[in-house]
Amino acid sequence: MKITDLKCTVIGRNPVLRIVTDEGIDGFAQVEPSKHYLTPHVLFYRDYILGEDPTCVESVMRKIRRLGAFKPWGSSVSAIEMALWDIAGKAADLPVHKLLGGKVRDRVRVYNGAVRFPLDGFEPEDYAANMARMKATPENFSLIKQGVAFHGPMAGSVPGFYYGDVSSSGHRQNRGALTEKGLKHLIACTEAMKDVCGDEVGLALDCGPGMLPHDVIRFARAVEHLNLAWIEDTVTGDYVPWVHADQYLEITRSTSTPIHTGEQIYLRQNFKELIETKAVNVVGPDPCDVGGISELKWSAEYADLHGILMAPHGTGDGLFAFEYPTGDPDWWYDIVDGLPGPIVQDSYIDVWDTPGIGVTFNEKARGYLPDSDRDFFD
Ligand SMILES: [Mg+2]
Repeated sequence: MKITDLKCTVIGRNPVLRIVTDEGIDGFAQVEPSKHYLTPHVLFYRDYILGEDPTCVESVMRKIRRLGAFKPWGSSVSAIEMALWDIAGKAADLPVHKLLGGKVRDRVRVYNGAVRFPLDGFEPEDYAANMARMKATPENFSLIKQGVAFHGPMAGSVPGFYYGDVSSSGHRQNRGALTEKGLKHLIACTEAMKDVCGDEVGLALDCGPGMLPHDVIRFARAVEHLNLAWIEDTVTGDYVPWVHADQYLEITRSTSTPIHTGEQIYLRQNFKELIETKAVNVVGPDPCDVGGISELKWSAEYADLHGILMAPHGTGDGLFAFEYPTGDPDWWYDIVDGLPGPIVQDSYIDVWDTPGIGVTFNEKARGYLPDSDRDFFD
């Protein structure tokens, strides 16, 4: 089998790619909507993979893997990898998990990282009310993550939260040392949310990037009695193209609160120091940023060898729990076939056994193609 084309269009705001072969089997993958600008980057790899056998996934990946980078520049490589697995699975008439060793569980736990309601304000009672709404969703999540501090609007919306230039713009990152008031506010909001969760729902917090190690240590110690699931992305995080394993090591050794990072990291090599030094308790690579499904698996196996949990960040997508993403726009669920309904039941998703990735576009998807790509599915 040979790759004859790599196409990419944008459906909604999601770059969608299609790898075409000479045997009539196509592979599909998508990039998350916040990276709607990546189409030219996906197509950059076209000449590298044309003529290759798509079922030799690793061989093809070795031609392009070194030409990617940390988020967002790992997404294109990751999507190509997943489309290759889709083809390999369809060609073997097997679900992709069978090509990787087979499933080890019939259902996977997911946590709420995307079923969201707007906050009414930024006081502890607002975070508590918001948590109560998330706890009551039909998915019945057993673990919920909320953005606090520099992740989300808290740092830019609570006056005097930190020392630094306050920016409400997403284009300029808020970062700096917390004021005493800010630290107390963060602790109070966390306590209010945990009060709602009780001990039946785990609470994880996404905090950065933008925090300083000493603030993370003070905060993590102050909330040890709450038994949080983890504190995520404090000093680094989304779109930060470095790891700072030494800073995470200092934090993790200073507290019993589990420390988590890794959603922006590209390739297993960049998890090496974090894992080998046990700088975090939980790693969270995103299959759609780290380089694809096998890259996620390699990182997971290495983390497991070191007693480190994995809770994969989910955009298109553990050993702890997978982040549950939602389709964007809403009509995304109308243009794909293969998903279970309802998708989440009691915080779990059943693992399906359809060949390939097991999710395909249906005829309705054609109606959402841009005029310039009307032949995308042809
Ligand atoms: Mg995060």
